[in-house]
Amino acid sequence: MKKVTNNATHRIKCKLLPGNLAMRVVCPDCGNDTDFYEVAENVIMTTHYVQNEDGSFTPLSDDSQVIGEVRLYCGHCNADLTKYHRRFMEMLF
Ligand SMILES: [Zn+2]
Repeated sequence: MKKVTNNATHRIKCKLLPGNLAMRVVCPDCGNDTDFYEVAENVIMTTHYVQNEDGSFTPLSDDSQVIGEVRLYCGHCNADLTKYHRRFMEMLF
């Protein structure tokens, strides 16, 4: 789970392009359109390790499989924005 820090800085919005406005996810509760966090329920994480000659282990790769739901939340007021999750995924680069 990613940790989200809430800092109370006030930002002046000055470069919103009208063409992009329709695509932006905006929290209906507080108007936040910048900070979001995602929570995945029931995740199985598989990590592959090699054991070194001195007995220590080095991780080679990890693989996570989400079994439960993945939910999206507002980073400011924690409103449930899961209905925007599909758009969030489409706009994730
Ligand atoms: Zn919000």
